[in-house]
Amino acid sequence: MSPENTMLSDIFDISEQLYKMMSDVKSSDHSKIFEYLTNLGKTLAESDRASFWKWDKKNHTLWTTAATGADRITIPDTTGLVGKALADGKVLVTNDPYNNPYFNSDVDKKTGYVTKSILVMPVANIKGEFIGAYQVINKLTGDGRFDEIKDCKKLSLAAVICCLALESDVFLEESYTDKLTRLKNRMGFFADFTSTYNAIINDTERKLSLFICDIDKFKSVNDTYGHNAGDEVLKHVADVMTKNTNEGDGMYRWGGEEFIMIMKDADISECAAKAETLRKIIENSECVADGNVIKHTMSFGVTQFDPSKSIEENISDADQKLYTAKESGRNRVIV
Ligand code: GH3
Ligand code: MG
Ligand code: MG
Repeated sequence: MSPENTMLSDIFDISEQLYKMMSDVKSSDHSKIFEYLTNLGKTLAESDRASFWKWDKKNHTLWTTAATGADRITIPDTTGLVGKALADGKVLVTNDPYNNPYFNSDVDKKTGYVTKSILVMPVANIKGEFIGAYQVINKLTGDGRFDEIKDCKKLSLAAVICCLALESDVFLEESYTDKLTRLKNRMGFFADFTSTYNAIINDTERKLSLFICDIDKFKSVNDTYGHNAGDEVLKHVADVMTKNTNEGDGMYRWGGEEFIMIMKDADISECAAKAETLRKIIENSECVADGNVIKHTMSFGVTQFDPSKSIEENISDADQKLYTAKESGRNRVIV
């Protein structure tokens, strides 16, 4: 095969792997998708290494998971050639990196790798806002130098796919997140059922339990201290809940001042014990908002998933117990 045909065949292999991975509903491992996309860029630009850097504008960082042979790396967005390319919003090529003031040689010093040529290509979303950048290192063919025009033309294929994948990843993540508390919202709850919980419910060896809880007399918090203070109480509750959620379990803002916790491999009594622990913590905690110390309590309804019922029916079961908790005086857990 000619070199061009070999390259095309490699590209089609990667695109086929990508297609299969993205069509697999069970796969929620997005880092794998970015790994394939990084591989695509590496192949297209005939380079030794490639990484795709995502720009977190809120935290002023750049991060990557797919730098070959490394875990997630986070750097300030003002550093290195990637930072420079994004700050300028244009492609950056250097075939003499050690003499480039923006090049960070720390990795080379640590690992003994010798960087000879680099191409950084900023990647924008469909609105033209830069959201990340491709970096390819050490051209493997020809004179070992990157050509700004020819190599960018090839890399642009990976850049376009990568920007669309990243945009939809960010967009989905945001749509699953409640803006006030940063907990997952109702959409995130149902997405987690598809990706994780359904498999547990259908596995006769495993159990799944949940509780739904609701702040008591929350309307009077708003009426007494104002809506902003009410928001602070919601954030406080979310914070307490998150800190007390076991690794792998799920915490969601179900709506207004209602939250749901899902516990994997826990039966109803374990779930009830967790609810009781949280009830006490909330009762004994206080939230300071606008100079006011606000005390509050919560009511809980607990249930263990019945696989013969739908998700909605199971939640309604917990909801009825929550209603009973409210009816019988609030600040209690009903199982
Ligand atoms: P109960 O003990 O029966 O649960 O009484 P409650 O007052 O908590 O219940 P009710 O459902 O009457 O009131 C819930 C209130 O929650 C009404 C609504 O304005 C408020 N709320 C819902 N979402 C938010 C929010 O995001 N921020 C604030 N500050 N208030 C919210
Ligand atoms: Mg309430
Ligand atoms: Mg309510």
